[in-house]
Amino acid sequence: MTDASTTAERKMQFLFALRSKGVTDPRVLTAMERIDRGPFVRGLFADRAYEDTPLPIACGQTISQPSVVGLMTQALEVSPRDKVLEVGTGSGYQAAILSQLARRVYTVDRHKRLVREARTLFEAMDLANITAFTSDGSFGLPDQAPFDRIIVTAAAEDPPGPLLAQLKVGGIMVLPVGQSDTVQSMIRVRRHEAGFDYDELRPVRFVPLVEGLAPDN
Ligand code: SAH
Repeated sequence: MTDASTTAERKMQFLFALRSKGVTDPRVLTAMERIDRGPFVRGLFADRAYEDTPLPIACGQTISQPSVVGLMTQALEVSPRDKVLEVGTGSGYQAAILSQLARRVYTVDRHKRLVREARTLFEAMDLANITAFTSDGSFGLPDQAPFDRIIVTAAAEDPPGPLLAQLKVGGIMVLPVGQSDTVQSMIRVRRHEAGFDYDELRPVRFVPLVEGLAPDN
């Protein structure tokens, strides 16, 4: 088999794995078909980019498992006019998927190096509706708030108060909650006029949400 056909084959299996794990929203599947995970995985693990598995990235962090990216994105119910905040840029992969579905994506990470590398990829891929900042996402992004949708890709014990406050009425937030060394739950929070509704979606495992900028900044 040539390299090209191997890649095509791997990509087909990648989409098949997403569907079989419950990613069924056609808009999410199309976004995940368009955004190549390859460039977001570097170095030693590059040739495993199309496996449905989390992989190590720089700064001791991880790029999430594709089916988990798909399920979280699906649960977020993004529409084309939405302004979205992602906490935990990591490789930039989740933000790139969101950029296909939303009007505008803000993404923040406490590691400057990850933000710099993700920005380079966004530019190379012409994803002009993403803005990435180095900041402590547990405080949200007050300058750009409120948001239609918020996604957190690192686990906190509880949904951070500033993020709840920066969610619009009618807005949705999806995030993992729980202790970092045990199984966490992916939850969906909907804000309505009178308060918040919480839905528990599925068990997940994410790196912890850590307060403050990383010391390597
Ligand atoms: N969404 C990423 C994976 C994120 S891994 C992707 O698609 O690749 C979780 C990320 O959350 C890590 O990069 C970590 O540095 C970041 N993080 C942890 N605590 C944070 C905080 N308080 N503010 C911003 N980013 C944080």
